[in-house]
Amino acid sequence: MTVRTRFAPSPTGTLHIGSARTALFNYLFSRHHGGTYLLRIEDTDRARNTEQAVQAIIDGLEWLGLSPDEPPVFQSTREARHAEVAREMLARGQAYRCYCTPEELAEMRRRAEAEGRPPRYDGRWRDRDPKEAPTGVTPAIRLKAPRDGETVIEDLVQGTVRVANAELDDMIILRGNGAPTYQHAVVVDDHDMGISHVIRGDDHLTNAFRQMQIYRAMDWEPPRFAHIPLIHGADGAKLSKRHGAQSVVEFREMGFLPEALCNYLLRLGWGHGDAEVLSREEAIRLFDLDGVGRAAARMDYAKLTHLNAVWLRRADDERLTREVVQRLGASAEAAGRIQTLMPALKERARTLNELAASARFLTVRPPLAMESKAEALLTPTTRGMLAELARALGKVAFAPPALDAALRDFAAARGEKLGAVAQPLRAALTGAVSSPPIDAVLTALGREETLARLAAVAGAPVT
Ligand code: GLU
Repeated sequence: MTVRTRFAPSPTGTLHIGSARTALFNYLFSRHHGGTYLLRIEDTDRARNTEQAVQAIIDGLEWLGLSPDEPPVFQSTREARHAEVAREMLARGQAYRCYCTPEELAEMRRRAEAEGRPPRYDGRWRDRDPKEAPTGVTPAIRLKAPRDGETVIEDLVQGTVRVANAELDDMIILRGNGAPTYQHAVVVDDHDMGISHVIRGDDHLTNAFRQMQIYRAMDWEPPRFAHIPLIHGADGAKLSKRHGAQSVVEFREMGFLPEALCNYLLRLGWGHGDAEVLSREEAIRLFDLDGVGRAAARMDYAKLTHLNAVWLRRADDERLTREVVQRLGASAEAAGRIQTLMPALKERARTLNELAASARFLTVRPPLAMESKAEALLTPTTRGMLAELARALGKVAFAPPALDAALRDFAAARGEKLGAVAQPLRAALTGAVSSPPIDAVLTALGREETLARLAAVAGAPVT
């Protein structure tokens, strides 16, 4: 079978991480099976859809490395085709025109409610002679849904799910104004796009029954369905603002890497043994729908942050430097220092924002703003010592082994431990009490900048 999947977001806001996970699963499933992965923008609700939201989806997918294999299909451009299929269903005797007025439908609902029944359409135009049609009412087209038996879906995640057909009424497929309903448009588009597998959130499971009836009415081969559980917060409630970030762009702004976010979203509700850290290639090789659990996935921000730290350490220094330079608006000179220190910086940060914060000291000019703990290390004695150290450093090659040896010799000559020299030095060079190893910091700053920073704090030399 040729696998063709699609991600079908409605562009009503930003790209939600739940949607991103749906896109990821569709992507991985199609790649695993050598298939095609498509994007359909479900933009028929003109009042709620905006161009900005479409762009946010396209940009978000691109950032995640989940751009579709073909240009997106816009559902709104396909209305004529949706209407055509509705007419074909009429011709096949699988649909009928319904001339109910809004008042009649409201009355039907009221009565059902009063009698404690679910508000279903009563099928009053199902077998009525169209000659009885009132004038001045443009009819809607309704599916002539089966009344007996069951509609069954062999869902690849949920297992066999079934509903008695008596529970489903004759739904509208084309409204009186000629607009297709959501269920109808989805089926026609999935059919025309040749979709083999519909992988989406399990909030669409009940839609699948309705959609299955449309496939049957048209005698079309239905796709396989896989309804994946939604993402909930750590407390089990549906993920909402109060749990934390929700949209892909928020995670991006917080300094998460796309590969870390994808790795996390994959592991959320999908497992392969103990494997935690999975590259895109490994994910493609291992992913299948059998590994998707049925329980709601719980968002764990701490775990995501941990994975991000792992991916930061694996990331290319040049790329990380670009990210940090852009965040700090750093000069070319500072960029050079940042890149030199990157191997050490990335060991200590969990997000790009933390990484940028830890690199900020490389972009400033003396005198440095000091953390109070750093300031406290700079006493008249240590300032004097730093002045002397500056003289010693004037003669040393600025590379780690030589610098390390010079610092040790300097400390030994004064009968001090290395830390007694390194800590005030760190304070003077970084304005903070923690940083990457001091020899790496010195190397990144270079002789001239190091001496300038020391000069800014050094007091009178101790004689
Ligand atoms: N447009 C729907 C949504 O954003 C998805 C429909 C589908 O995947 O069939 O939830």
